[in-house]
Amino acid sequence: MPKIYLSPAAHGRDNPCGYDSACGENIHCNLYMDELEPYLLACGFAVKRNPKDRTGDRLKEAIAESNAWGADLHYVAHTNAGGGAYSLLMVYDQGTAYGYAEKLAARRREIYAGNVKISVQPQWDELRLTAAPAVYDEMVFHDNAKDIAWFHEHLREMAEATAKAICDMFGAAFVDPYAKPAEPAPEPVPRPAERNPLPLRPRSELEAMGDEQRAIFALLSGRALVPDEIVGRTEIPARRVNTALTLLQAQGYLNELPGKRFTAAVRFDD
Ligand SMILES: [Zn+2]
Ligand SMILES: [Zn+2]
Repeated sequence: MPKIYLSPAAHGRDNPCGYDSACGENIHCNLYMDELEPYLLACGFAVKRNPKDRTGDRLKEAIAESNAWGADLHYVAHTNAGGGAYSLLMVYDQGTAYGYAEKLAARRREIYAGNVKISVQPQWDELRLTAAPAVYDEMVFHDNAKDIAWFHEHLREMAEATAKAICDMFGAAFVDPYAKPAEPAPEPVPRPAERNPLPLRPRSELEAMGDEQRAIFALLSGRALVPDEIVGRTEIPARRVNTALTLLQAQGYLNELPGKRFTAAVRFDD
């Protein structure tokens, strides 16, 4: 499966987060990657990630690691400064990565109210020096209180949408790791004949019956009927139907059910 290299913000001095003074750009970008990883793994991608303590001017190590691994996508996630309220997806040129960014933008727009822009910005090392197509995602603005609050409260939805976009990029099926397992299929209900097969009798016994008995037995093999119904279906006079039923019952070929209904008690060889 495709290899996805994840590169969360790793500034030497973290940028303050407008949602929580204890947070920062590096911290919440790593929280986002913590949410993204299980989705990507569930969808079958191989994942490698720049460790969160590799900060400052060590970006070249992440780039070298991504290149040595042979990543198929190098995905960078930061948050922006300047008080805006939009996503900015940056790529090196109009090549493969631009198409990937369009797929990510489409999924981002499904959940995020702000604008989602795509921009060619070849100056960034993680776009310029990476071998894989790379997308540099400035997800939201960490100094816009409303934007960054929304981000913190929708980390999982953001990650899910990104995972769907990465599936779109590589033609992979999206798998939700949090989906409830499907209910096991109910046991098939056995057909009545299988559940309670009637005793089998030799065909010669059926052939030995009189014509009217045989006709009545055939009628009762698939259902339960009262004598009047048998009369109606066979046009055998009621008296002879009653006689035939008595004989069939005495020979063990019929069961009498509540309500004076009769049904077959045996079945015959084909
Ligand atoms: Zn934060
Ligand atoms: Zn940043």
